[in-house]
Amino acid sequence: MAEETIFSKIIRQEIPTPLLYQDDLVTAFRDISPQAKSHILIIPNKLIPTVNDITEDDELTIGRMFSVARKLAKEEGINEDGYRLIMNCNKHGGQEVYHIHMHLVGGEPLGKMLSI
Ligand code: AMP
Repeated sequence: MAEETIFSKIIRQEIPTPLLYQDDLVTAFRDISPQAKSHILIIPNKLIPTVNDITEDDELTIGRMFSVARKLAKEEGINEDGYRLIMNCNKHGGQEVYHIHMHLVGGEPLGKMLSI
């Protein structure tokens, strides 16, 4: 059984982080340490520790994460200029929180690669 992270507490609003989006499958909120003008995290409500742990049963959830990214990018007004979606996996990927999350970053030119 994977150990819960702070993200589960945010999903349940035990830590009152303002939510940008929440439905039955995913939740989105602003990154506490933004690496660009716009930096949002989109996470599954279900605890999936790493991308390696995604199963076929999660395909609807993973698809929903992309739909929410698209919707929030538009709301942020960054969809036309562009943005980057990043998911870090394990140590070499720089993953710090072991509850998968999609970083939506933009609002300024990001260069060829972003280290977050
Ligand atoms: P990663 O390195 O891909 O695991 O990214 C974890 C991200 O979670 C980092 O960008 C952190 O700034 C962010 N983060 C950690 N704790 C919180 C929190 N309580 N609220 C919002 N973002 C957080």
